Amino acid sequence: MSLEGTFNTIVPLISADEIHRRIKEMGKAISNDYGTITPENPLLLIVVLKGAFIFAADLMRTITVPCTVDFIFASSYGSGTQSSGNVAIRHKLIVTGRSVLIVEDIIDTGLTMQQITAELITMKPASLGICTLLDKPDARKHHVDIDYTGFIVPNTFIVGYGIDYDEHYRELPSLGVLNSDPA
Ligand code: 5GP
Repeated sequence: MSLEGTFNTIVPLISADEIHRRIKEMGKAISNDYGTITPENPLLLIVVLKGAFIFAADLMRTITVPCTVDFIFASSYGSGTQSSGNVAIRHKLIVTGRSVLIVEDIIDTGLTMQQITAELITMKPASLGICTLLDKPDARKHHVDIDYTGFIVPNTFIVGYGIDYDEHYRELPSLGVLNSDPA
């Protein structure tokens, strides 16, 4: 597919089957760890938009303890492939006293997750966990304690399965590495 000014190729990284297998394992681990959760105070999944929306939808359907879902919007890339370091978080959430699990697509430098957790902690959740589909430890600049990781990936630019480049490629069922060459 060609985008304005660039020619992009996607090199396959993780297949749809592998993704779904791993998500089932993650859902099982989460369901075990939150086994004492009750319907009166269900687990709250806070999904980081937009990239984690497909992952969260599949993950939620593998979780067997009572859970609810809410969303926050965070964006650090805009239309480029380098993290800008500027993270905008807009949300209006009821978190106090809830067991919260943040659901993210990729943890890269860790800046986004550090800012999200710092904000959520001020709202006094009963507990705060972090679940990410992808972890890029080689890119880390800010420490993050991740509770559930789908896959550890190299420090490359990844698209597919909800994860975009300038809003493209979210619809791909698998994950791949985007190679951009000047046209
Ligand atoms: P961080 O703040 O950890 O550097 O960046 C996290 C956010 O940057 C992720 O939520 C994701 O939206 C975006 N991001 C990081 N790596 C990639 C990547 O390889 N591809 C895409 N499309 N977004 C990424």
